[in-house]
Amino acid sequence: MPEMPEIEAHAERLAQDYVGRTLTKLHPFNFTALKTAVPSPDSAYGHEVRSIGRRGKYLTIEFKPLTMVIHLMQGGRLLPDTKLSKKPRGGQARIMFGDDVAPLLLTEQGTERRAGIWCVSAGELETADPIGKLGPEACDVNAAELALLFSQKSMRIHGFLRDQRSIAGIGRRLANEVCWQARISPFATTKKLAVEGASKVVDAITTCVTEGLEYERGREDMSKSKDRPSNAHGQTGEPCPRSGSHANDTIRSIEYSGYTVNYCPTCQTNGKILADNTTSKFLK
Ligand SMILES: [Zn+2]
Repeated sequence: MPEMPEIEAHAERLAQDYVGRTLTKLHPFNFTALKTAVPSPDSAYGHEVRSIGRRGKYLTIEFKPLTMVIHLMQGGRLLPDTKLSKKPRGGQARIMFGDDVAPLLLTEQGTERRAGIWCVSAGELETADPIGKLGPEACDVNAAELALLFSQKSMRIHGFLRDQRSIAGIGRRLANEVCWQARISPFATTKKLAVEGASKVVDAITTCVTEGLEYERGREDMSKSKDRPSNAHGQTGEPCPRSGSHANDTIRSIEYSGYTVNYCPTCQTNGKILADNTTSKFLK
């Protein structure tokens, strides 16, 4: 799933071509694509795009009366639609801007149909669904603020990082990368990390997000998750990139139904191999 750096860079690309364009129509291809009934997207017809941005893992397209909030979920894309076919493959919705620019097509491959568009009235963006439920931006919190959030929610740091209500913008890949970067066990308890741990996590988020943004801005389209350069994520069985500075160790994994936790025992758990009471696979 695209996370903060991918969405941010994509918003920047879209902004170049679409800010200032006039909305003529929002056409959903199925009833799950438009997640809100009020306000009607019609109220923004004839209005120019004021900005295209990001909050958490959502894209935002701002018009004067309302903002369209778009979630791509796992395999969704929002791209210029040059084919204009009647039934585009995976098509969820088409956003049209008149004749001088290609419409934007929201697609989602697969059958989940969870990607979609929320229309949120001006002034309500930060309080209404879906953004109202989000925690602060992951890359905006400082160590003291994060330590406070840690003290309010006792949970594993890996789960905390992925929980959009705690902090917003980080998903499965960055959670692995941030823990590895901070040299913190993915199973560390947030409450016990305190200010010192929070400070390491803040620095790690900055490093990982900066690297991710740099990579993503160098591309013409959003990367697939396997393309994104990673130190720990998806690197099961590979040598830890720090193996030059510590005894050779390999990246381990713990498999869950929806995601994989990757970590280096030497860097993150004092050599301890993590186990879980759910089914887990280990390297021999
Ligand atoms: Zn290591």
